[in-house]
Amino acid sequence: MNTFKKTLVLDTISNIISHQRGFFKSQKTKDLDYRLSLLKALKVEILANEQAVIDALNKDFKKSEFEAYLSEFGIVISELNLAIKHLKKWAKPKRIKSSLLTFPSKDYLYQEPFGTILILAPWNYPFLLAMEPLIMALAAGNTVVVKPSELTVHTSKVITRIIKNVFPESHATSIEGGVEISTALLAQKWDYIFFTGSTKIGKIVAQAAAKYLTPVVLELGGKSPCIIDDSVNLKLVARRLVWGKFLNGGQTCIAPDYVIAKSNIKQELIAVLKTEILRRYGENPEGSPDFPRIINKNNIKRLETLLMDSSIAFGGEINANECYISPTIVDEPNLNSQLMQEEIFGPILPILTYDTEEDIEQIIWNIEKPLSFYVFSNNTSFIKETIEKYSFGGGVINDLLIHFGNHRLPFGGVGASGMGKYHGKHGFNTFSNTKPIVKRGNWFDPSFRYAPYKGKMSLLRTVFKYFG
Ligand code: NAD
Repeated sequence: MNTFKKTLVLDTISNIISHQRGFFKSQKTKDLDYRLSLLKALKVEILANEQAVIDALNKDFKKSEFEAYLSEFGIVISELNLAIKHLKKWAKPKRIKSSLLTFPSKDYLYQEPFGTILILAPWNYPFLLAMEPLIMALAAGNTVVVKPSELTVHTSKVITRIIKNVFPESHATSIEGGVEISTALLAQKWDYIFFTGSTKIGKIVAQAAAKYLTPVVLELGGKSPCIIDDSVNLKLVARRLVWGKFLNGGQTCIAPDYVIAKSNIKQELIAVLKTEILRRYGENPEGSPDFPRIINKNNIKRLETLLMDSSIAFGGEINANECYISPTIVDEPNLNSQLMQEEIFGPILPILTYDTEEDIEQIIWNIEKPLSFYVFSNNTSFIKETIEKYSFGGGVINDLLIHFGNHRLPFGGVGASGMGKYHGKHGFNTFSNTKPIVKRGNWFDPSFRYAPYKGKMSLLRTVFKYFG
């Protein structure tokens, strides 16, 4: 971007923020009926654009209609329904039991919006991961600027149109663009930043937020392990694993990145996985309408490099021109290989093995804390030990991904996989500052706390001992 264009972009962005701040200060967004009416209008607009969203996702990376609805459109509508149904309850000040130390008082928790919020979205679930935080940020009473991903141009255009058709720019708007626009947005002062994307860019966002001490949520990625012991029904495991790994072409932040299987089941596991892949996507997955493409050529190149020197047990076919890579299984990659050092984010499934629990520790403790964790087993004590021993954002026992589907469960990472949680009411809370308020009664004002303190020490100790 040349200097003139850069100045223009910065001016436009700071104008939008200034209008949003003005609108926020008008207190309009705190009016619950106003918020509700806009959420309802947003729902009407999104429903009217259902086909446009599905078509855009297909144009962007050949996502099938079924996956588009299951993993994006349907979830957005559910979150919107939830917010519309519960908004008044969520936003209402909550009475909290008071303490003897504040007696006489009535204590409350108020939920207030932060103000003007920036949402940066990734490309892999481009509609869901822009709209879900947007819905909860607006439900909580904020004004919002969303920057959808530059890599999914068709979906980003639909997002911009939907927002524009419902909201004045001073309340919510979508600004499309790549790194330059993100950088220009991050240079501004926000009241809150919500970022979904890679750990690498998450660090840039955290640094930008630190400049103004802006609170930030980072929804990042990582290498999520999937442990499989020898007590399982392998056919069922293969069914679930092929679904969870190859959904969205393996480009899912919570996809199992790699498998750690008990060594005595490895060969059979690979055999049932092959059968299952053939059953789901056929002999030629490139021709399957249900198998998406890799988002762009850079990522195909990246995945091709990850496969170099790997022992491929199945698949490995690449058509770079079509951004296609077939569902691929890699047998026992080296732990120091690039494949095991970075998040794969594609349809490549490495199978590692273990004999002892120390073998599992050696693998998992040498990788940053993952976003998700999966264990397939019928051994209760093994399950309990693994989910309690390792630190991760969220997990599933005997299946994959489905923790994302329960809005009552907070979703997010830990350490390198992120900070902050959302989904459903947790999302509303994430975009709200919880303000404790104590309303002191005037009918009783014991002189005990006031100076002079002489002779009051022993009563003070007793009060803390029994009532503190
Ligand atoms: P990304 O980090 O490359 O991009 C995310 C956003 O940041 C985009 O809007 C992009 O324009 C912007 N961006 C890119 N480079 C930037 C820079 N230098 N400065 C400022 N902003 C910049 O991520 P992606 O490739 O779009 O998505 C894939 C990653 O996101 C994976 O690591 C995946 O695990 C993660 N992810 C996490 C979740 C989650 O919920 N935790 C969900 C989806 C994806």
